[in-house]
Amino acid sequence: MARYTDSVCKLCRREGQKLFLKGDRCYTGKCALVRRESAPGQHGVSRKKKSEYNIQLREKQKARRYYCVLEKQFAEYYEMANRKAGMTGENLLKILESRLDNVVYRLGFAMSRPEARQLVRHGHFTVNGKKVNIPSYLCKGGEVIAVKDSSRSSDKFKAIMEANGSKPIPKWLDLDRNTLQGRVINLPEREDIDLPIEEHLIVELYSK
Ligand code: SF4
Repeated sequence: MARYTDSVCKLCRREGQKLFLKGDRCYTGKCALVRRESAPGQHGVSRKKKSEYNIQLREKQKARRYYCVLEKQFAEYYEMANRKAGMTGENLLKILESRLDNVVYRLGFAMSRPEARQLVRHGHFTVNGKKVNIPSYLCKGGEVIAVKDSSRSSDKFKAIMEANGSKPIPKWLDLDRNTLQGRVINLPEREDIDLPIEEHLIVELYSK
């Protein structure tokens, strides 16, 4: 399966925004964006005025990078969102939020989305009692996402749950910290998604 393997901090520097891809480190002075704000590469400090296309492109890249989704899959999500009733941009964000790796991250079972993706791929989670190791699995309302029995007492999950002890859980999810079980109450509405993404720019880009 294809995946991004270069430094994830470069992605934050490219978008000029924290994408929180490295867990704890993102909240400290060691964050690469805090130490060096310019975009990576030879022309990183250029102040050239951005074209409309460039602004739309950057918004799409930012959304894609928040959720750690590759280009082709993101375009497929857009098509899926476009076919659904309602606002395409909002549908797109709701689809991205319902990915299993994102739900795992939102429930506090991982320190970052990349870590959530890796933990899912390593088979640490069940959905409604069945092992699911596909990060792109789209969760539905009512489904129960749990840390697998044999992983629950591991040092890894103890450390993660301790570090995420005070992390707020979105209101569309429910978490039982004792059993490490989460439930999708309902899929989120747009106002439940706290990421600074202007989805209308993404729709404009794909509508060209
Ligand atoms: Fe982005 Fe986190 Fe790296 Fe900072 S430490 S640049 S927020 S991935």
